[in-house]
Amino acid sequence: MCEKRANKVRPYEAEEVIGLELRQLGESTWVIPGPVNIGYYEENGKGYLIDTGLDDDQGRKILKLLSENRSAPLRAIVNTHSNADHIGANAFIQKRTNCEVWTTRIEGVMTERPSLEPLLLWAAWPFKQIRGKFIEAKPSKVKFIESEGQIMDTSLKAVPLPGHYLDMIGVITPDNVFFLADSLFDPKILEKYRFSVMLDIASAYKTFDMIAEARASWFVPCHANPTNDIHELVEQNRAGQAWITESVYRAIEGTEGVSREDALSKIGVAEELEMDAAHLLLNLASVNAHLTYLAEQDRIEPFVKDCRLLWRVRPKI
Ligand SMILES: [Zn+2]
Repeated sequence: MCEKRANKVRPYEAEEVIGLELRQLGESTWVIPGPVNIGYYEENGKGYLIDTGLDDDQGRKILKLLSENRSAPLRAIVNTHSNADHIGANAFIQKRTNCEVWTTRIEGVMTERPSLEPLLLWAAWPFKQIRGKFIEAKPSKVKFIESEGQIMDTSLKAVPLPGHYLDMIGVITPDNVFFLADSLFDPKILEKYRFSVMLDIASAYKTFDMIAEARASWFVPCHANPTNDIHELVEQNRAGQAWITESVYRAIEGTEGVSREDALSKIGVAEELEMDAAHLLLNLASVNAHLTYLAEQDRIEPFVKDCRLLWRVRPKI
């Protein structure tokens, strides 16, 4: 039944130039394609956004788009997680519409106190070069939701998507559109940047498995084109993460000990990656996650030498 519905609506064409417009994916569900795909859903005459995008400008454009095309008042924003590119337009939209912002507890704390995001990256009070809008959003006022099950009194369903961030959720609509947040990235992004933020690699793989088993009319990752068949994207993301794991391992193998910065530098120089301070810290978070993953598999171990935390291959017993 859900598939039939999806066939009736205008299909998403991946090759089209993306702009700020509403593309219908189900009876009550739309996507606003962009650098971050935003979801829009209606129920009982009320509108809901799934994530909002980067900044005030994006918020203004979304509200204009909705006011020109839909008459339902916006009741709430459901945030999948608290990264700045997903919550950055919350403040503008909340101020204009007085809508609520719903998100999970830990992500909600970050959404109300976005300076925690650069603090998490730097492990101390952050310096200004890592406090730009791509890292630190404007704060918005939130209400907490659970990471699994019915979202408030709506027919939306939250699905935990561990791996990428702290307590990220996906959202499934009753017309069977599955918003996947940042669990999967476009292969072009993986190819270009090599690293992608995944804080917990073992959990990310479990999330890949869960998504590969899921059934939906549409799958909507935030940073890849919506698709009816998610399997290829899941496999590309598995390969992308496996490439980082093995690159980090190779940076350590055959040495007396390598720091996380050394490992990132070896890989980044070999791949001719360019990064500023903020981007470097995001990539370092990715390296750190893969160091933990390799240590969990007993392939490497940490030690301290000359006041540096180093990693070496663990001798086989
Ligand atoms: Zn994102």
